[in-house]
Amino acid sequence: MLEKLEIKTHKQVELIDITRQIKAIVGRAGVKNGVCVVFVPHTTAGITINENADPNVVRDIVDSINKIVPFDGEYRHIEGNSPGHIKSSLFSASLTVIIEKNALLLGTWQVVYFCEFDGPRTRKVFVKVIEG
Ligand code: ZN
Repeated sequence: MLEKLEIKTHKQVELIDITRQIKAIVGRAGVKNGVCVVFVPHTTAGITINENADPNVVRDIVDSINKIVPFDGEYRHIEGNSPGHIKSSLFSASLTVIIEKNALLLGTWQVVYFCEFDGPRTRKVFVKVIEG
């Protein structure tokens, strides 16, 4: 089954925890064992897994990626959002999480973050649950 999430972002660069929405989809799918594919169909956004216990982890990731790929670099892309495209490629457009006993097999501190790199916008995330 394929489901679509709509994510409203509020900042130019931010990480949004979407684990709750993905868990709900996996629960509805009723798949005991399998995989969950999370796919972001955008060229200035991404998806990643990281810690949510200490909010400073996400702050440090955002600050660091903005230093690695600054907003005021010498870019050629006429649309003006090259930093967003580069950040998108440094992260990923998709990830896979194992489903075991109808639950995501995430580590204790792991959550799934939607990564906005050229917001604020309304974004889509596709979630495909596969039994196996
Ligand atoms: Zn562009």
